Amino acid sequence: MAKQTILIIEDEPSLVEVLTYNLAKEGFEIVVATDGQEGLRLAQTALPDLVILDLMLPVIDGLDVCRRLRSDPRTLGIRILMLTAKSEEVDEIVGFSMGADDYVNKPFRLKPLIHRVKALLRRSTAAEQSSDIVATDGIEVDRLNHTAKADGRELQLTPTEFQLLWTLARQPGRAFTRNELMDRCRGEDAPSFERTIDVHIRSLRQKLGNRFGAIETVRSVGYRFRTEV
Ligand code: CA
Repeated sequence: MAKQTILIIEDEPSLVEVLTYNLAKEGFEIVVATDGQEGLRLAQTALPDLVILDLMLPVIDGLDVCRRLRSDPRTLGIRILMLTAKSEEVDEIVGFSMGADDYVNKPFRLKPLIHRVKALLRRSTAAEQSSDIVATDGIEVDRLNHTAKADGRELQLTPTEFQLLWTLARQPGRAFTRNELMDRCRGEDAPSFERTIDVHIRSLRQKLGNRFGAIETVRSVGYRFRTEV
């Protein structure tokens, strides 16, 4: 299989170095840009599988780069992992509506970051296969047969709980805002307020039993399905 390519758009030399070294060691092909404009150009020519995108960049900032990648049919499908500073929590959420797939706060730890990168890349492969069954971390969700199991035990879920579990489990590691989750829910018991999502998630976690930890709370954003360790 051809090597997967990661484009790093980051203006801090020490971070570029540590990311390049460690991701190359994981077997990825690495391309680097140190400002937003160069980053966009490389994204369009190298067509990487994933972009690690810093928020604060010279020439064109990260959010703008993100928006432009999403509006260009050539780069639309590229996974985007944003790097943000802690003080920019509001921007994180903005980042999601701009089309980033996930984010990591700076300063970051390397291992979890590599984990996220791999989860995002797995997810793009899974999306290509567009399967109706998700099996991960002891949990199995079958959308066609509308069944869900935890460690082989069948779960009795409401339509909303099922939809939430399907949405989250299908893209492990991807953080969803409550608003996004609300959008995914249809049917009679579909939540009409963002905070109602919390109630459904709580109930879903209870039903997951020993696997309750599979759904993680992402502070000031929403929820995500745990990445398998
Ligand atoms: Ca920066």
